[in-house]
Amino acid sequence: MVYHDPYTPERKYVECLDCGHRTTAPETPESCPECEGAVKNIAVPRE
Ligand SMILES: [Zn+2]
Repeated sequence: MVYHDPYTPERKYVECLDCGHRTTAPETPESCPECEGAVKNIAVPRE
């Protein structure tokens, strides 16, 4: 039996290569929301 937790959806964690802005989103954005620079996927941060 697979348990799916609806309160912890999978999220992408991305960082802007230009300004360093970090954000999470359900889908990887094509550009930075702050400066519209290129973004890259980075590892899920540990808390
Ligand atoms: Zn940026």
